[in-house]
Amino acid sequence: MSVIVLIEHSSGNIKKKSFEAVQYASEIAQRLGTSATAVVAGSVADSEMQKLGEYGAKKVLHVPDERLNNLHTRAYCRLLITAARQENSEVIVTLHDVNGRAIAPRVAVALKAGLVSGALSYPDLDQGFMIKKSVFSGKAFAFVKVTTAIKVIMLVPNTFQLSKTTGSVIIEKLSVPFEDKDFAIKVTEVNKVTGQIPLADAELVVSGGRGLKGPENWGLIENLAKELGAATACSRPVADAHWRPHHEHVGQTGGTIRPNLYIAAGISGAIQHLAGVSGSKTIVVINKDPEAPFFKAANYGVVGDVMEVLPRLTEAVRKFKENHQ
Ligand SMILES: Cc1cc2nc3c(=O)[nH]c(=O)nc-3n(C[C@H](O)[C@H](O)[C@H](O)COP(=O)(O)OP(=O)(O)OC[C@H]3O[C@@H](n4cnc5c(N)ncnc54)[C@H](O)[C@@H]3O)c2cc1C
Repeated sequence: MSVIVLIEHSSGNIKKKSFEAVQYASEIAQRLGTSATAVVAGSVADSEMQKLGEYGAKKVLHVPDERLNNLHTRAYCRLLITAARQENSEVIVTLHDVNGRAIAPRVAVALKAGLVSGALSYPDLDQGFMIKKSVFSGKAFAFVKVTTAIKVIMLVPNTFQLSKTTGSVIIEKLSVPFEDKDFAIKVTEVNKVTGQIPLADAELVVSGGRGLKGPENWGLIENLAKELGAATACSRPVADAHWRPHHEHVGQTGGTIRPNLYIAAGISGAIQHLAGVSGSKTIVVINKDPEAPFFKAANYGVVGDVMEVLPRLTEAVRKFKENHQ
């Protein structure tokens, strides 16, 4: 019996949020008196997988099939189910992200497991495996008790601080009886964003909404982000209008981020947007409308025109850096 956790990687580099999932799974495993096993799919070097030991994993089950370098949902479900059955797992952890949402519910059905999406806490075992989760797009919390023998938990990324320890893992190959239909979807092209800070891992984020008026003004967002060393993000209508790429869209239907600083410029603060950013440690809102709902969620607010405020803020950051070198 062990707790298993699905790992995500990008070109063989394990994502920060997966280290967090491993840390989470290993803490649960400790409380249950067992250990955490990480499941890795695709081309990842042994040296990279060893890093999982630094976050508490004791074992890695590796499926080195190159086809798994892209997300094939059916194949990923099959490998996670195979791993869970082989390890006799009671708890399966994925992330509450695009991949986790595609995989975890199907795995839960196949294993007749209770599923907790949007998990924000460790299970309280004294309360019979009770977990705090986010509901209504992050507007409220619910405490749910999972009563099935097998539990699938989808952890919201950036819920816990990473803390590295020493430790190593035993790496074993996992054999999975894939079928051709598991790879029925053909990936014809992969476009990777390079030279930018990945949004999911960013500690600082500068984000723009429809208040920027058009893509021609995005230099204002990018200049501030560059001065701060921040990633850039946007609201959904901005991505829908192709002002910005879709991977920058945050919110209920986009990415969930929890940076230390989230600067929202010209974004109204609709509930669907807040769903993706309300876990940010500090929120700064720039909006010309003092009644904009985002101000209610902000730690700091600037009532003003983004066209004036953003260049002044960028200049202030530049000067501050100059004086504090
Ligand atoms: C099912 C569903 C899912 C959704 N998912 C998402 C999601 O994941 N993410 C998301 O973002 N949205 C999502 N939405 C859309 C969401 O409801 C809002 O419509 C959207 O977030 C609004 O984007 P915005 O704030 O950029 O634009 P607007 O609502 O148009 O707000 C623009 C803001 O800019 C301000 N402004 C205008 N000009 C200036 C200026 N010169 N200077 C300063 N401020 C200015 C305005 O006062 C206003 O507050 C979803 C909606 C639905 C129905």
